[in-house]
Amino acid sequence: MTAPPPRVAVVGGGILGTVLSLRLAGAGADVTLLERGPSLGGLAAAFEFDGHRVDRFYHVVVPSDERMIALAQELGIAHALRFSPVGVGFWIDGAMHPFNGPGDLARFSPLSPLARLRLAAFVLACQLRRDHAVLEDKPLEPWLRRLCGRELVERIWRPLLDSRFDGRHDELPATYLWARTNRMRSARRGRAGGGGETMGCLVGGHERLIGAACDRARELGVDVRVRAGVEGLVCDEDGAVTGVRVDGADETYDLTIATLQPPALARLLPKVHLGLLDAYPRRHLGVVCLLLKVRRSLLPYYSVNICEPTPFTTVVETSHVVGTDHTDGLRLVYIPKYCQSDAPEFTEDDASIYTRFTDQLARLAPTFRHEDVVAWTVQRAPLVEPVHARGHRPRTAPIWPGVDGLALACAGQVYPRLLNGESIIQLAERVAGEATQRLSLPGTPAVPRAPVTDAA
Ligand SMILES: Cc1cc2nc3c(=O)[nH]c(=O)nc-3n(C[C@H](O)[C@H](O)[C@H](O)COP(=O)(O)OP(=O)(O)OC[C@H]3O[C@@H](n4cnc5c(N)ncnc54)[C@H](O)[C@@H]3O)c2cc1C
Repeated sequence: MTAPPPRVAVVGGGILGTVLSLRLAGAGADVTLLERGPSLGGLAAAFEFDGHRVDRFYHVVVPSDERMIALAQELGIAHALRFSPVGVGFWIDGAMHPFNGPGDLARFSPLSPLARLRLAAFVLACQLRRDHAVLEDKPLEPWLRRLCGRELVERIWRPLLDSRFDGRHDELPATYLWARTNRMRSARRGRAGGGGETMGCLVGGHERLIGAACDRARELGVDVRVRAGVEGLVCDEDGAVTGVRVDGADETYDLTIATLQPPALARLLPKVHLGLLDAYPRRHLGVVCLLLKVRRSLLPYYSVNICEPTPFTTVVETSHVVGTDHTDGLRLVYIPKYCQSDAPEFTEDDASIYTRFTDQLARLAPTFRHEDVVAWTVQRAPLVEPVHARGHRPRTAPIWPGVDGLALACAGQVYPRLLNGESIIQLAERVAGEATQRLSLPGTPAVPRAPVTDAA
């Protein structure tokens, strides 16, 4: 008689938990996926917005998102991937400038010719660098000043960092901009002539990928449970995790894998294991995002870099990528502000956010008219991403924290790559591969381990 397969609980049904469940079931585990919300998807979920189903937050794919594209192929929905050239704008000195490749940089009048040259040299140097180890403990701003000069730091980098990190970025290592520059390079792949970026989407949004992964996981036997918030991890007297508590009842599993970031994980960990949180970054950013549905395009750009004090981080007109077939020709404009969960934006009245953000939007996009706004909403997510501070060790928290029956896999363990669907799928597949070995599952990890050194 063969032994029953090991029982695994996956806590959290975002992209990470869903792909992890799919892979573990494929390798032969008996998996239960527990999601607190009414549907899977987490930050990448969709919602009904005034009669149209749209992404809660803007989500695109870049051509180098290999694992994402491979998953779409495997699930039979790659035909729904669409890539299009997009533009990026720069708002500086009260004017908008296109910023799509060497030609635009050469004509970028807000910077002196020397600063333009230094910017080009900096981007090239970042893209040629493969090894980030020497950047790990270098403070970002002094490093930028040395490589780029004062003009670039004061006119470009500092304002951009201020708005992306809610005014506080002194803790960042140089690695951050290296990783970001490489992600930009990957969006430029596939553009002949080196101008502009290429971005893509799945028709139907990330929700379609998550839905297809969920369907396949169910076919493989995964018990997918929504509205099943985990209230705590259950431990035996030796501290080993024996399962989870859901709806006031204890459930027993051979392995519990929590995919939650530390502030959410803290609510589940028994006191005896709270020390595990020390290995994670201390600071986290959330996002408050005004979403507009408008009658006409506001800007010819997918996104805008804003180089002045601003109430929001950027403007993202996703219709340049996702099209308008699913919104009856209306266009979607996301206006996010990245900020900590205790920032005033999280308690600010929606109407006040609308007024403040659209006042500034009207400066950036002079064609903006309130009469063209068909619908608007404010979406809030207090826990989006960790800030990886310089000098923090270990650089990433261990997946196997040394507690029997417990694995920890979350966005905070993605480093130095930037956090996005691609890097999250890589993490899910890596964890599934390691769990397959530890649990001696009959299957083999369905996918090769992804390289971890490329920041693209
Ligand atoms: C504004 C914005 C724009 C983005 N743009 C892009 C983009 O263009 N391209 C891209 O690839 N990525 C993008 N991302 C990043 C991407 O959305 C995330 O990296 C990814 O969705 C993270 O997935 P996750 O599963 O790790 O976390 P989450 O999506 O946060 O999932 C965690 C899940 O756990 C659940 N949960 C929490 N507590 C419990 C509990 N106690 N019990 C059970 N379940 C629980 C939550 O409800 C949630 O569903 C963007 C993110 C944001 C915020």
